[in-house]
Amino acid sequence: MKFSRRQFLKLGGATSALLASSGHALPAAAAPQSKIKWTSETATICPYCAVGCGIIVGTRDGKVVNTEGDPDHPINGGALCSKGGTLRQLANNDRRITKPMYRAAGASEWQDVEWDWALDEIAKRVKQTRDTNWIETESDGRLVRRTEAIAHVGSAALDNEECSLLIKAVRSMGLVYVEHQARI
Ligand code: SF4
Repeated sequence: MKFSRRQFLKLGGATSALLASSGHALPAAAAPQSKIKWTSETATICPYCAVGCGIIVGTRDGKVVNTEGDPDHPINGGALCSKGGTLRQLANNDRRITKPMYRAAGASEWQDVEWDWALDEIAKRVKQTRDTNWIETESDGRLVRRTEAIAHVGSAALDNEECSLLIKAVRSMGLVYVEHQARI
């Protein structure tokens, strides 16, 4: 019979419980309290690099209390590098920026701004840049309809569906400089 690593760990837990109920409980020092007791588990993908390791996030009372490699994930089989292994620090971090910030041209300080303002401003500047730098035809008259004034950088944390939508959006705006963070 074949077991996945996760099934094996569950079987180990069940065996421990059986030992306990039969009066053969492990000594307290050998059975520390589970760090994921009373947590909800959610499967996710590591946001850092293009390997795309699977991670299980444990949350309790709406707060991330544990992250660990997903033993059933086909990419990493439960293993994580040191960066992915410390992912919990990304979610629980006082220095994490949670609002958009803006630094005006020539200014030295960043300021907090509202999402509505930031999104309107991005849309306005993208349109303005695109319209000002639109190339309708090449010098030989060939129709190209592109702009070389805007570039787009994708992310390894995006899934196939998100990538498909993004590439349609940026190509429809005439972008030709489209790159991926994992290739830089
Ligand atoms: S755990 Fe490490 S190797 Fe895996 S996706 Fe994250 S950063 Fe990349």
